[in-house]
Amino acid sequence: MITTEEIIEISDKYTFNTYSRYKIVAARAQDGYIIDKNGKKYLDFTAGIAVNSLGYDDKGLKNALKAQIDKILHCSNLYYNEPQALLARELCSLGGLSAGLDGTTHFQRAFFCNSGAEANEGALKLARLRAGKGRGNFISFKNSFHGRTTGALALTGQTKYQQGFEPLIGEVRFAEFNNFESVAAAIDNSVCAIFLEPIQGEGGVNPAERGFLEAIRKLCDEKNIALIFDEVQTGIGRTGKFFAYENFGVKPDIITLAKGLGGGVPIGAILARGEFAEVFKPTTHGTTFGGSPLACTAGLYITKKVAQPDFLANVRKMSEYFKSQLQSHSSGLKGQGLLLGLEVEGKPADYVRKALEKGLLILGAGENVLRFAPPLTITKAQIDEGIKILKEII
Ligand code: PLP
Repeated sequence: MITTEEIIEISDKYTFNTYSRYKIVAARAQDGYIIDKNGKKYLDFTAGIAVNSLGYDDKGLKNALKAQIDKILHCSNLYYNEPQALLARELCSLGGLSAGLDGTTHFQRAFFCNSGAEANEGALKLARLRAGKGRGNFISFKNSFHGRTTGALALTGQTKYQQGFEPLIGEVRFAEFNNFESVAAAIDNSVCAIFLEPIQGEGGVNPAERGFLEAIRKLCDEKNIALIFDEVQTGIGRTGKFFAYENFGVKPDIITLAKGLGGGVPIGAILARGEFAEVFKPTTHGTTFGGSPLACTAGLYITKKVAQPDFLANVRKMSEYFKSQLQSHSSGLKGQGLLLGLEVEGKPADYVRKALEKGLLILGAGENVLRFAPPLTITKAQIDEGIKILKEII
């Protein structure tokens, strides 16, 4: 039988050296735990970086996927497929209702792709095409993260990811997050869109302020600029609402989704409202794999389940419990729902390593933040177990 050491050796030799990996081989998962090849269990407060929204044991999801595999795995976008049609309708119907702002459908159309970066690339193209020639610039934010493809990278406000890849696309102006004056100062007629995460995830779990988003919404309306929310990490129930923007009462023109939408099956999506939904035409955008029956089966099952008021209420309840247990220990607690950050002294990576040794998987974010993004199905007992380890290492 192949050993852990052999898998690591082969992997290190034959895959690109793009990741600093911890030396465990994830063999299977069960009930909120990842189990390595040697049988050691790790409580998972990462959910594959906000991906495994329903944990690892949702029988309904597994059965839906198995049934779809028996029907058809992939078909091109030259033809229609049922899961894609139903998922598009489901996501569009949620935009207004679950927001509870005006009770009407907010988004009119969806486009499916395969990842967060790809969704952002599509949104970028959409905004440029709508604005027309001479209006190809963007405003994004310091400490943001939008992905690794060249367009998404250009929007990412962290130079460490961009170095060596310049020139990236056109001009992106980086404003200060939660500082409206810096946004207003960067606006002119060449800007087609403002791109932002309602809670900056990778940059340190930094939530936007409501007034900041309201002021940006107003500015975008006045200047006829697209407001694009990257909810790749914050969407699909992660913050206790289906879309994170519902926490702020401010709706974007375009939203990008991925991660939790497929619960582990790769999928990305762009939703757009009104005239923004009518910009793309045949030839202007497309993808081979996007909207496959398999990925959309996962997306449809997860969307229907997560959007249920009871499910979202439980995410908020678990979030409150998680925060109450950590609060007694630290003041630097931030985030919403089950996307939480805790400020620490020293490097996050050191804490992540210590937690791993004790059987808990956590993430770092920004310069000094530990990030917790467990499955949305996490239980009180699992929170207790994880917090006990966190208290030992902090
Ligand atoms: N946008 C945000 C907010 C993200 O957190 C990420 C990934 O961490 C991305 C985009 C990129 O997504 P992907 O890795 O699926 O390309």
